[in-house]
Amino acid sequence: LARIEADRERCIGSGLCAMAAETLFDQDAHDGRVLVLVEEVPAELTAAAREAVSLCPARALSLSKD
Ligand code: SF4
Repeated sequence: LARIEADRERCIGSGLCAMAAETLFDQDAHDGRVLVLVEEVPAELTAAAREAVSLCPARALSLSKD
């Protein structure tokens, strides 16, 4: 399983991750920064998670293997 790591200090609240993978990410209602909904990515969502990581304009997201 891959694990999502989000650096909320770098996040600029663009929301692209939530658009790319709405089951994995949301945005904070107050500051717009990323909220990781599912930290341990199920296999069927790995591609969506990778896409979200690559789309992030702030490079705030990464995937790591446990
Ligand atoms: S794509 Fe990156 S900058 Fe945009 S909300 Fe997600 S983590 Fe933040």
